[in-house]
Amino acid sequence: MKKIQIITLFPEMFSGVLNSSMMWKAQQCNAVEFRIINLRDFGIGPRQQVDDTPYGGGDGMLLMPKPLFAAIKDGKNYDFNAKVVLMTPKGERWKQSTARKWADDSNSYIFVCGRYEGYDERILTLVDKQVSVGDYVLTGGELPAMTVIDSIVRLIPGVLGGENSAAIESFSDGKTLEFPQYTRPEVFKDMKVPEILLSGNHAEIAKWRQENSFKAK
Ligand code: SAM
Repeated sequence: MKKIQIITLFPEMFSGVLNSSMMWKAQQCNAVEFRIINLRDFGIGPRQQVDDTPYGGGDGMLLMPKPLFAAIKDGKNYDFNAKVVLMTPKGERWKQSTARKWADDSNSYIFVCGRYEGYDERILTLVDKQVSVGDYVLTGGELPAMTVIDSIVRLIPGVLGGENSAAIESFSDGKTLEFPQYTRPEVFKDMKVPEILLSGNHAEIAKWRQENSFKAK
């Protein structure tokens, strides 16, 4: 079973996402175990401080190394071999092919969610991989971590159910987008489902679908 641990200052953000739909199902079928580590538990002093101002000046606060090191140690105590993944806009752009690779490997992962202006750079000595979800900046690493985790977990064998669903999805071959899909009714607000899809001619349908799979930009 793949173990996924998440270091965050906002554990409550994860309960809805991890306990619904596919993520819930994945836990029920023992494909994955989630463990949330509250960074605040490793905070310093009576106020359990986790952040401080940057040396050299500048706006905002940074996550201090001590609580982060302690939280990662806690994750490693739980699973010594877990890979540490830091969510950061400076990381490698996340792709479907990487999600597939991580779903198929036997690794467990510890996701570290940054906050404020980021983290003390010395944390990188503990990090195996830096991941970005795109060239934009979010308030924290929680939404990026949820995105990446969802994309991995749904691909773990047995989780999606119809194993073909993932094989024919957008980006499954790294570039093609899924063909247009329709369901009932045949006519909706004067818009008709393409005739070919009603024909029952599977060879022609497959050809039409291939022709209407668009390349990702
Ligand atoms: N000052 C940082 C910078 O300019 O790169 C941005 C900090 S951001 C407000 C706080 C945290 O959100 C980051 O440390 C990271 O964990 C997370 N984050 C924001 N955007 C992200 C993205 N595109 N991909 C992954 N993580 C992101």
